[in-house]
Amino acid sequence: MKLARLGEGPEIFFSLQGEGKNQGTPSVFVRTSRCNLNCSWCDTPYTWNWSGTAYVHESAPKFDLAAETVELDALEAAGWVLRWPCRRLVLTGGEPLLQASECRRLIEHLRSVDAKYVVEVETNGTLVPPPELDSVVDQYTVSPKLSNSGVERSLRLRHEALQYLARSPKSVFKFVVGDAADAEQVEELEAEYQINPDRIYLMPQGTTPLGLEGLRPSIAAACLARGYRFSDRLHIHLFGNRPGV
Ligand code: SF4
Repeated sequence: MKLARLGEGPEIFFSLQGEGKNQGTPSVFVRTSRCNLNCSWCDTPYTWNWSGTAYVHESAPKFDLAAETVELDALEAAGWVLRWPCRRLVLTGGEPLLQASECRRLIEHLRSVDAKYVVEVETNGTLVPPPELDSVVDQYTVSPKLSNSGVERSLRLRHEALQYLARSPKSVFKFVVGDAADAEQVEELEAEYQINPDRIYLMPQGTTPLGLEGLRPSIAAACLARGYRFSDRLHIHLFGNRPGV
């Protein structure tokens, strides 16, 4: 698996899920490297914004692909996950569905040790999960990107994948929003893909406690107007915006 690097090893860490349905839940996170999008505000650009590429990011410098990547096989990655007694795994990225087969093998290794592992996959919603992975995932947290990402619509909204994920009972949807116009785009997707509003979370776009707090009132109002749920970014308040927490 191609994983993000943290110090001398992979970015595999134990923390509280900061966002969405499972906010506040202790979880082991595996951060895969590589993404098929390039959002201008991405908080993990070290998984894709490589030196020599033309991608535009609002603040981050370019990163060295080799220096930011750790390659492990799925069994080795499982060994890192098993360092913690927690049986909730979050596969995040980057875009973990780019490495679906490896993710499947990782889950199999973990469940061979303890069948009680619960697995959440955080995805940008552009890829259809292959059946062999779908059969072992408990929850998708789908985060389709809006125009505020700076990514071309045809790349960030993929009909087949969104249709599949919207129909899956395992999915909840989490949108990064900055203003009322963003919430209107969410409403359009809700209608097009017939997503129950109760499965939709709006989350403020921000990487500092102050930035998040400033957006809370307008996003709370947008949730109340549409029956959506509100998601904070708990880890930012608790730990700040840094890798491995
Ligand atoms: Fe970053 Fe996610 Fe956008 Fe990929 S889809 S660039 S990981 S925010």
